[in-house]
Amino acid sequence: MSDKSQRSLWAWGRVGDEPDADALAGAAANLGALLGFEIDGEVEQPTPFDADALAPARIETPPALSEIVTPDARARAERAWGSSYQDVIHGFRGDFRFAPDAVATPRDENQIEQVLEWAAAANAAVIPYGGGTSVVGGVRPEVPSGYDGVITLDMGEFDQLLELDDVSQAARIQAGAAGPVLEKALEAHGMTMRFYPQSFEFATLGGWIVTRAGGHFATVETHIDDLVESVRAITPSGLWQSFRLPASGAGPSPDRMLLGSEGTLGVVTESWVRVRPRPTRRAQASVLYERFEDGVDAVRAIAQSGLRPSNCRLIEAEEARFTLAGDGSAHLMVLGFESAGAAVDERFEQAKAIAVECGGVVLRSSGGTGPEGAASEGTGGGAKWRETFIRAPYIRNTLVACGVLAETFETVTTWDRFSALRDGVISAVAKTTDGRGKVTCRFTHIYPDGPAPYFTVLAPAARGDEVAQWQSIKEAVSEVLSINGASITHHHAVGRDHRPWYERQRPEPFAAALRAAKAELDPTGMLNPGCLFDPLRP
Ligand SMILES: Cc1cc2nc3c(=O)[nH]c(=O)nc-3n(C[C@H](O)[C@H](O)[C@H](O)COP(=O)(O)OP(=O)(O)OC[C@H]3O[C@@H](n4cnc5c(N)ncnc54)[C@H](O)[C@@H]3O)c2cc1C
Repeated sequence: MSDKSQRSLWAWGRVGDEPDADALAGAAANLGALLGFEIDGEVEQPTPFDADALAPARIETPPALSEIVTPDARARAERAWGSSYQDVIHGFRGDFRFAPDAVATPRDENQIEQVLEWAAAANAAVIPYGGGTSVVGGVRPEVPSGYDGVITLDMGEFDQLLELDDVSQAARIQAGAAGPVLEKALEAHGMTMRFYPQSFEFATLGGWIVTRAGGHFATVETHIDDLVESVRAITPSGLWQSFRLPASGAGPSPDRMLLGSEGTLGVVTESWVRVRPRPTRRAQASVLYERFEDGVDAVRAIAQSGLRPSNCRLIEAEEARFTLAGDGSAHLMVLGFESAGAAVDERFEQAKAIAVECGGVVLRSSGGTGPEGAASEGTGGGAKWRETFIRAPYIRNTLVACGVLAETFETVTTWDRFSALRDGVISAVAKTTDGRGKVTCRFTHIYPDGPAPYFTVLAPAARGDEVAQWQSIKEAVSEVLSINGASITHHHAVGRDHRPWYERQRPEPFAAALRAAKAELDPTGMLNPGCLFDPLRP
């Protein structure tokens, strides 16, 4: 069962998870030294929620739907933004200008159909909503003119493990199940989906599928795409259900059409996904590099070696320092292998040898055959880094209140173009922050032909003007990605915020084909208009 307690209106977490005044005062006193740039040291308090400041709802709930639809101001405000830096700032300042007119929380597919029928009759847009962790404006109910209202369709009641096929190792899971709920249900059967995005606590299976999310393991099955066996969705034109198959050569894949559809083609209600026994063997090492370039060479050599580690991340020294994964004196590679059966030791030793050949020094190394969670998990930089990884979203709450801008950019490119790309991002951040910002790089995922670099930008926030500041950094960095032929996203999706660069990236005939599919599946253009492409209205 999901935790149904209220989410914070601005912070990562639930009401009560926001940092308290004492913690913030302590942080403000030390943050400048930790981050390496000056901040003004003032702690700002979030604007208290004022229900009367919200625009009145423009559409009326039909009596037949009153049990699953609410026009409640708090519920509407909670779904007015997603989880990007600009979303957090708006919530922090009590600005809920894009609050939907109603929040529907259907309990079955029939009720989803009824909500879609209501939306068609009321000329309203519908925004499918999972965990609201979108960082690209994917759930922001900012719809173009021409609609008489907006309904956010929250999938929170669809949170059950429905079936487990332990012969084929697959599970049928409802789309609104968030990471912890889904993993707990599978754990009861000794299985795991082994899919850990950093937003794991709140993000849902349906959200992962339609945003083509990436888990925290660095190679092999990293994208949700690799784990999906079949998808079931309700579209305004009818039910979409694909066959359960391990693979298929029968024409273009219906699942792949929904993967990345970002709530514009249908509402995903459930999916069969591949699961596996929980790992029993793990091996992990932390390797240090004096020169970042040597770490890059090592990661590339490992990615091309065929050894397929479950983790192989390179983290810049400065980022390792302020995430407390290292002391900042060297760049850190976290190397890990795991298995529920075959031994990992030999592959682990070979990968370590490559890491050392490229100039690395092994700081800690542990594991190989021990049980999961025991000593083989290691207690070094790697284990510390993973803990910090899952807790990191909470740190942003403190940064925002203390006047620090925190934004991330993720992309993917080929190895031959990585270095120029990184230089371009560093220079764009320097220009847009007057040299006061800091940008660090790590690899979140690696492929034989290229890395997925993830850039973290931290800078003193222009208090009161953070959204414009954020926008200028976002545009400058996105331009660099585009000019260098890198993807506007590796796993954060397109939403509303990445559209200008996505439109340059996708071939025009493909865009036309997508628009035709949209017109067929969603003839009135009600689903998430403005996300992925211009709204199509008849
Ligand atoms: C701190 C933080 C860390 C993150 N880390 C990662 C990471 O490691 N890897 C990663 O891939 N992403 C990451 N993200 C981005 C985000 O978590 C993903 O995009 C995630 O997949 C969104 O899932 P969600 O359930 O929250 O979807 P939402 O944010 O609710 O929605 C995202 C999009 O999916 C649509 N949608 C949601 N549910 C459905 C459904 N059932 N049917 C149809 N459409 C639907 C929405 O309309 C919207 O377009 C992170 C975000 C934050 C804030």
